[in-house]
Amino acid sequence: MTTHERPLGSVLDTVGRTPLVAVQAAPDEVSVYAKLESFNPGASVKDRIGKYMLEAMLDRGELEPGGTVIEPTAGNTGIGFALAAGQLDVDAVFVVPERFSVEKQQLMRALGAEVINTPTEDGMERAIDRAYELADELDDAVVPQQFGNPLNAEAHYETTAPEIYEALDGQVGAIVAGCGTAGTLMGMAQYAREQDPDTYVAAVEPEGSLYSEFEGAHPDEDEYKIEGIGTHDTDTNELFDPTLVDDVVQVSDRAAHAEVSRLAGEEGQLVASSAAAASIAAQGVADRIASGEIDAPYDTVVTVFPDSSERYLSKGIYRSFEEWEG
Ligand code: PMP
Repeated sequence: MTTHERPLGSVLDTVGRTPLVAVQAAPDEVSVYAKLESFNPGASVKDRIGKYMLEAMLDRGELEPGGTVIEPTAGNTGIGFALAAGQLDVDAVFVVPERFSVEKQQLMRALGAEVINTPTEDGMERAIDRAYELADELDDAVVPQQFGNPLNAEAHYETTAPEIYEALDGQVGAIVAGCGTAGTLMGMAQYAREQDPDTYVAAVEPEGSLYSEFEGAHPDEDEYKIEGIGTHDTDTNELFDPTLVDDVVQVSDRAAHAEVSRLAGEEGQLVASSAAAASIAAQGVADRIASGEIDAPYDTVVTVFPDSSERYLSKGIYRSFEEWEG
């Protein structure tokens, strides 16, 4: 089920159906499996929402063919939307603060998107405001707004989760995933709880992020290096529903950095820091199931590895911790 054995008409048809692979460092008693999202054509989990959200907005008439999608995004989401937009006759514009990865911006442009930079010092808030200003100026433009759009979680409810349950014949004891927008975890958690309300659900965030104190304060600076997960402004993360989550696991930059190298060296997994954080948290949940501390319906933990380390080589992901941390 993880391969596409018949010829396909478009690269968009290769989104999803990614492999589910064992994490070998898991304890003997409990299996841990990771969904390898770098197998998507734009090499990240965000290809799923790019395709799903644009197709849904076109179906509903919220967006017309020939219209424009405008999203403030620093990374993988832009690539996912650009890829889908290019194949669905939609123009794509991304508003990106200058400091974000040049590689990702190059890929968005290569896929036909326009990238507009905003000054680094104005933060993501300015990029968001600019996206809405641009949408007001154009006739048929929409801002999907992945942080507040239920279609984001729905993409994972409709695709990622069923793929996992099919691969494991429904025997899923725990779901563990990093939270950026929280779309990936929320879509999977909702599906999992419908299959079995006792399924254990853990969110993963970097130390210094605020999902674990959802009503918490709003420090305005990134205090961690792990990319793609965590929040500093719980107000903008409208998708995160604490009632679907049993635990929020925090992972340090140092532990994630070490796990990135371990996964490459020992398991041949070329994944980035958010995947490494998910791997550590999933192994921790597996240990707690093995010890009887967590009572999960099956001895199987599933997590998601959102993208590949190749996207972060220039940021020193395989260099020493001090060099990576900058
Ligand atoms: N890891 C990486 C590398 C990401 O780009 C993202 C998306 N921000 C995530 C994890 C988290 O996914 P989600 O937004 O669905 O919570």
